[in-house]
Amino acid sequence: MSQNFNCPDCGSSQFVTEPNQYDILEFSSNGFEVVDSETIDDYKVFCRECGVEVDLIKSTKKIVCKG
Ligand SMILES: [Zn+2]
Repeated sequence: MSQNFNCPDCGSSQFVTEPNQYDILEFSSNGFEVVDSETIDDYKVFCRECGVEVDLIKSTKKIVCKG
């Protein structure tokens, strides 16, 4: 396993994302109704262990701290 794919801060290999897609619901007499659906292209990735925001450098396939 390459060190490049672990959190640069704490070494964890697990990450979590914010939901990058969600539906907008409205109540109607029939119950929930989907009125719109949004996709956020620029979703964020966080280390599961320490919570630091990370980014993947596509050219080098290396995970780095963001910000
Ligand atoms: Zn971490």
